[in-house]
Amino acid sequence: MRAIQLIEPKKWPELRDIPVPKPGPGEVLLKVTAAGLCHSDIAVMDYYAEMLNYKLPMTLGHECVGTVVEAGQGTEDQVTIGESVMVYGPWGCGQCKQCSEGYENYCTETKKLGIFPPGLGHNGGCAEYMIVDSPRHLVPIGDLDPIKAVPLTDAALTPYHAIQISAPKLLANSTAVVIGVGGLGHVAIQLLKHLTPATVVAIDISETHLELAKKVDADVVLKSEQSAVQAVKDLTNGLGAEVVFDFVGAQPTIDLGAQMTKVRGEWNIVGIGGGSAKVGFGQVPYECKVLSPYWGTRGDLFDVVALAQRGLLDVHTETYTIEQGVEAYHRLHEGKIVGRAVLVP
Ligand code: NAD
Ligand code: ZN
Ligand code: ZN
Repeated sequence: MRAIQLIEPKKWPELRDIPVPKPGPGEVLLKVTAAGLCHSDIAVMDYYAEMLNYKLPMTLGHECVGTVVEAGQGTEDQVTIGESVMVYGPWGCGQCKQCSEGYENYCTETKKLGIFPPGLGHNGGCAEYMIVDSPRHLVPIGDLDPIKAVPLTDAALTPYHAIQISAPKLLANSTAVVIGVGGLGHVAIQLLKHLTPATVVAIDISETHLELAKKVDADVVLKSEQSAVQAVKDLTNGLGAEVVFDFVGAQPTIDLGAQMTKVRGEWNIVGIGGGSAKVGFGQVPYECKVLSPYWGTRGDLFDVVALAQRGLLDVHTETYTIEQGVEAYHRLHEGKIVGRAVLVP
């Protein structure tokens, strides 16, 4: 089968021919129907060998939807052959305290047990077939279109989780800022509009992406530059936004976030763009919380699917064949994807 694999650290991935995997006991084989491309994949491609704590080659793709084609030993009664399912990505042990509280995304045992998410250590969805380690990590999608559903597993799940944390701050007359209107950001805007009464301000460097922000109902759009700080202050009686969600996390956006969050506000840094925030007295507004969440819980994924099934999410996608996958990654790197790029193997 064809698969897009990372072969060496600091190199672009390649389209390769590899054998179709066999599900072992407890595992499930999916025929992949859609795989989303995330900017985190680009970050991983740039890791040095010491930063990759897993073996290469590895198939990319941590947003995955597929059809169940084979049940490994012991899973026969837990899956339905032919069912369309999405894959919950942040695999954990299912047994530690974090997992038992539903926070499988913060499982404490993954390192010790060598558990990796698909596409981030375990072979992922940028292939014709993939193995899922447990039926627990499958969520049926009913009649949702796999292409529109696949970004729910990260581009929607991650902002949904971040918004759940900060939602208590987003009451009447509040303002939420979304920095970076890409795969995650354009869904975040919609989630904020559906889940909170906040005025939503979207900030990006790209005019095309700000157009997308308007399409998905952002109240105000601003170019990502220093003047955006004053614009947010003007909108908020000089006080700043209750919550800033940063879906870039690079130094320029971290610097903006620090200046536009309110006293007792929350600064939710989701992007992994390599920037760092200075915290400490005088560096952030009084009692400002700084958060760095990772992905979401299995429960959050059920919620996100329910929102999509009610027709509340308008996820913008660009589709590519597996042969075009490496090119699609280049386009993502260059900031040319509007919404989410989805591979259809
Ligand atoms: P994307 O490439 O689809 O979107 C990034 C957006 O940021 C684009 O619209 C781009 O124009 C914009 N941007 C770039 N530089 C900017 C700047 N200086 N100011 C304002 N906007 C700027 O990326 P994505 O897949 O949506 O991922 C967003 C970030 O979130 C990435 O860093 C990714 O690695 C990270 N991520 C984190 C988690 C997590 O669990 N914490 C999960 C998924 C993705
Ligand atoms: Zn991701
Ligand atoms: Zn665990």
